[in-house]
Amino acid sequence: MTVDATTKIEIDPLTCTGCGLCILSCPADVIRLDEAAHKAVVAYGKDCQVCYLCEDDCPEHSITLSHDISNSRRFSTYDQFGLKI
Ligand code: SF4
Ligand code: SF4
Repeated sequence: MTVDATTKIEIDPLTCTGCGLCILSCPADVIRLDEAAHKAVVAYGKDCQVCYLCEDDCPEHSITLSHDISNSRRFSTYDQFGLKI
C-alpha cells in the first residue's frame, strides 16, 4: 500500500491496474504513473485538494482518502444532504 503522510492518500498497488483514470481526474496533478510498475503513485501529495475525484473515479476502488480531512472548498452531495461518508 502506498501511503502519503501529508494527504493520507492511499493507492493500493494490489488492485491498481494502471489505467490512468485517476491521473486524468486529478485537477491538482498529484498522481503519476509508475511506468515500470504500471501503477499509480502519489507524486505531489502536498498539492492535494482533497476533492475526492480520484477516489470516486477509480474503477478498481484502489484509492482511499482519509475522510477526516476537512476541505472548506469541497461541497459534495454528502454535505448537501447531511450524510456521513
Ligand atoms: S484509476 Fe485506480 S486503477 Fe486506474 S491507475 Fe488510478 S488507482 Fe490505478
Ligand atoms: S483528492 Fe483530488 S486533488 Fe487529491 S489526489 Fe485525488 S483528485 Fe487529486
